[in-house]
Amino acid sequence: MAKESEAVNPFETAKRQIDIVADILGLDSGIRAILKAPKRELTVNFPVRMDDNSYRVFTGYRVQYNMARGPTKGGIRYHPQVTLDEVRALAAWMTWKCAVVNLPYGGGKGGVICDPKHMSQGELERLTRRYASEIAPIIGPEIDIPAPDVYTDSQTMAWIMDTYSMQKGYSVPGVVTGKPISLGGSEGRGEATGRGCAYVIREAASHAGVRVKGGSVAVQGFGNAGSVAAKILHDEQGAKIVAVSDSRGGIINPQGLNPHAVDEFKHKTGSVVGFPGSKPISNTEILEAKVDILIPAALENQLTKKNAEKVQARVIAEAANGPTLPEADKVFYESKITVLPDILANAGGVTVSYFEWAQDIQGFFWPLEEVNQRLERTMVKSYAEVHKVAEERSVHNRTAAYVLAIQRVVDALKMRGIYP
Ligand code: NAD
Repeated sequence: MAKESEAVNPFETAKRQIDIVADILGLDSGIRAILKAPKRELTVNFPVRMDDNSYRVFTGYRVQYNMARGPTKGGIRYHPQVTLDEVRALAAWMTWKCAVVNLPYGGGKGGVICDPKHMSQGELERLTRRYASEIAPIIGPEIDIPAPDVYTDSQTMAWIMDTYSMQKGYSVPGVVTGKPISLGGSEGRGEATGRGCAYVIREAASHAGVRVKGGSVAVQGFGNAGSVAAKILHDEQGAKIVAVSDSRGGIINPQGLNPHAVDEFKHKTGSVVGFPGSKPISNTEILEAKVDILIPAALENQLTKKNAEKVQARVIAEAANGPTLPEADKVFYESKITVLPDILANAGGVTVSYFEWAQDIQGFFWPLEEVNQRLERTMVKSYAEVHKVAEERSVHNRTAAYVLAIQRVVDALKMRGIYP
């Protein structure tokens, strides 16, 4: 994600994207202005007692970008470079992501400026509980439902759920998603992003005439999203995983890698690099590998004007957020490479978060098979809808996904009307 120190302000990017789609949809200036304005923003400055008994004041944000379609939904990020504009942009993107898979949610996001790598568990718990109580007036199962993001996890969600519940005087599991199973988390949430990504790859490959069974796959970023996508493509769809990478570098074996064995090796050694039978490959080379399917699952801004023409894959599935720059998109569209944009390709995570929330509210929990079946249905339908818009309007999938999402938000806005 672009940081404040860089020239690109992510919120300016988010607003430019709205303008592009607004032009396609012929939206008037009033609707454009509504779409570009975050509805509600809260900034909180709060003290935390550190382990040495000193106090430090931290700054946190929660932005509820648009709630025309329902309560807002989006993660909480702990990072030294969090800015309000970054949180606004992420909240806007969550609005479109929830709309593209047709969840009854708006979009939100939160962040705390802190360096979790240099904080103890106790400090993180106190920070989380105080931040949760500061934002408690504007969150809740019917208002705004946080989830994990960069450097927050199921433990963070457990602390938020407990803090909120203590204030209410009763347990409110539906206030956050991404919780541990023991507190009302959902089966299948952990692997939902990678699994959802594998489903849309299957659909898109079939439309594009690219084989998945026996087809070759490269994954940049063998972490949560990337390793799960690789395992599901390998186990359930018969794909050959030929190259994977992590922050230390990559490995390739044209005969195919067993993603389970690679994962085990990474757990033991800390990296995929050195996996027996593989040859090293760099993180830039992996993007240009001779494969059928490429999954960027690590960082932003990986596919650029410079390397786009060297990409040999026929399908690119963005498990990561924002891996492709607009100039690269243009090259891919012209070379008939199918791009599955992030707001669709990695929406499996928020989809199963929605299932978690629905289960919490009902107090009735579904078996894993049911979660996965419903996830598959959502991803298959969403891909088909995006593909249809792309064909009808002769645009690439990213624009189509934005058109579909923003049209849904506009429809809700118009049906509700402007109060009073
Ligand atoms: P993760 O930390 O589990 O995995 C990230 C992987 O990328 C790690 O293996 C890491 O070593 C690797 N990596 C880091 N720097 C790299 C580099 N320079 N080159 C290659 N690899 C590098 O994170 P994750 O949860 O899998 O998230 C990955 C991406 O997917 C992020 O963009 C995230 O926003 C997106 N995403 C994840 C989820 C989810 O539910 N996990 C949902 C939506 C989007």
